[in-house]
Formats: sequence, structure tokens, C-alpha cells
Amino acid sequence: MTIVAGTTALGPIDVHVHLSKNGRGGFGGWSRRRWIMQPFLRAAARDIGLRCGFDSVHFDELYLSQLLHWLDDSSLSAAVLLAYDWSRDERGAVRKDLSDLYVSNNAVFAAVRCSPKLLPGVSIHPSRPDALDELEHAAERGAALLKLLPCVQNIDCNQPRYAKFWTRLAELHLPLLAHTGGEFCVRSCRNDLKSPRCLRLPLECGVNVIAAHCATRALPWDGDHFTEFIEMRRQHPNLYGDLSPLSHITHLASLERLRREPERLLHGTDYPVVSAVFPSRLKGWISREQARQLNRMANPLEKKIRLTRAQGFPERVFTELWALLPPAVVSRFAGSRRAQPGSQAQASDKGARRSE
Ligand SMILES: [Zn+2]
Repeated sequence: MTIVAGTTALGPIDVHVHLSKNGRGGFGGWSRRRWIMQPFLRAAARDIGLRCGFDSVHFDELYLSQLLHWLDDSSLSAAVLLAYDWSRDERGAVRKDLSDLYVSNNAVFAAVRCSPKLLPGVSIHPSRPDALDELEHAAERGAALLKLLPCVQNIDCNQPRYAKFWTRLAELHLPLLAHTGGEFCVRSCRNDLKSPRCLRLPLECGVNVIAAHCATRALPWDGDHFTEFIEMRRQHPNLYGDLSPLSHITHLASLERLRREPERLLHGTDYPVVSAVFPSRLKGWISREQARQLNRMANPLEKKIRLTRAQGFPERVFTELWALLPPAVVSRFAGSRRAQPGSQAQASDKGARRSE
């Protein structure tokens, strides 16, 4: 796979940022209002400083403007903004009854036009009859990666009929960011697809696969797939993991191991999911002073960068993603940065300011 030289100089990139839409204030999105999630949504809204609730008619607009504010005021060079396809049946028909969230690829392409720091992460269920056409179209429009949630969207990635789709994905140099492990925010319809073993076929077809959350638990009673991730990472040099939003009590045992074996790990927040500081203090990974500074930090994107550094992960976790993205996307991004002199210095300045 082609690797663009000097990609670490492009600076920190967040592989896992969600575009969120409730379908009330615009096009391209929908979400189910589940009463059980209300307290968690309120906590997330508070954490990201949203000036309305997740149900508001102004939500779509305010969510994006708040994200742009945090991104601009962080030391991140870029973030991948993610679409979210429907849950679908074997023939590709939409199963709205199984879906809790939908964000169209068009909505993501429209949103990334608001900031040169945003890169589009598309979502295309491979059972869609037009899946290959959509993939080509997305690549032509500058997609940076493909995001799927096999256990939520009902995608058995190992079905031989998807091999053509994965092969084309690899040819287009598009990585696959796939949810693995426990899922808390939306319902899962296939618990058997939480294991990273369901990603074997795309890996064998040559796709660079990023197992979101390194297959860790979300809740204490979730099945544990983390050791499967570690085994598979050993077997497949094209398997990576993302660190989003690994910081909570349920992640500590996995984080302990990842700190010791930080190979092929990528920085991510899972924004707007909240990052927790206290568990790292509890483990003695960060000092009382570091915990105090992190807790005072308002910007959730910057807070996760600082927390990941304080936890002892190497600098390469912030930049290794650049080497996996389509070379044309990286070149275009590098070109747009050159066109804005000082942008890199400004970004690290902002990060330094946040740490004071
Ligand atoms: Zn996510």
C-alpha cells in the first residue's frame, strides 16, 4: 500500500468524530428518541457545551457549530467526521425498526466543507444493491475512510459475497473503521458481530482495518473481545485499533495492556462521547496535578489528546493514521495546509494554551 512520505509532519488527527443529526432541523439525518438514553445524552450535551438538547429543532446546526469551535481551538490538525448508514437486511433494504441513528454521506460531505480540518468518513452498507457504485462515488468525492458498525447495522463482513466490495475498498486505499466490542449508545441487533473475528475477510482482501475501541467492553457485563483483538493484531499486519473513547473504568484492564503494547494504535475521541479522567488517576497513571488540569479543560477534543499523552501512549498514535488514508486525500490536505501559512504553528500554540 502506498504511503505518503513525511505524514507525521501533518500533525495530530482524530479518527473517530461523529456528525450527529436528529432529523428535525435539516436534511440527511435521523435519530430515535430512546428514554433510556436521556440522562446520558444530557451528560454528553453538557460535556460538549451544547446550547440546546438533543431533541431541539436547532440541534443539527448547533451541534456542528460547537464541533467546529472545539476543533478550531484544539491542537488537532484534522478529524475524520463520520456518516452512519441504516441497519439493513440481507438484500440491502433499510430496517428503520432496528436503527437508532442515521447520518447520510451527503450530510457529511456538506459538513466537511465548513472546515479544512474535517475529512469525510462515509458509511455504505455492503448489502446495498448500489454499494459498489456508492463506494466509487464516495472515493471520487474525496472520502477518507469507510465507517461501519457490523453489530448495529447487521453486517456479516465475512460473507463471501462481500469480497468484491472489500477488494475494491483496498484498491481505493480506503481504510475500514469498524465498531468492535461493547456498544452502549445504540442498540445492537447481532451480538455475535461484536468480535473482531468478523473482520477476517476484509483483512484478507488487503483492507487496512481499524477496530474501533480495540474490541473493549462498554459495560461490565459485555462479552470480552479484547484478547481476540490482541491475537488478531499479531496475525494481521493490516489490523489497527483506535483508542476512542478508552478512559472509563470498564476500559482499564485493556488500557493497561495497550499501554505496554502500543503497536498500531490510533488516536480517537468518539466525540460526543465523554472521556473520563478519574479512572487514570485511580490507576496512578496520571498525577493529581495532571488530573486537575485535565478536569478543568473545557475542550473535549483537546482533553482526550492530553489524557492519551498523560497515560503514556507514544506520539505516533496521533499521526499514524495519515499513512493509511488515500494518498490523494492526504496530498490535498497537505496542499491546503501549505496554502494557509502558520497553520501548524497555530495549532500547536492552541494545544499549548489549553495545557496551561
Ligand atoms: Zn463511535
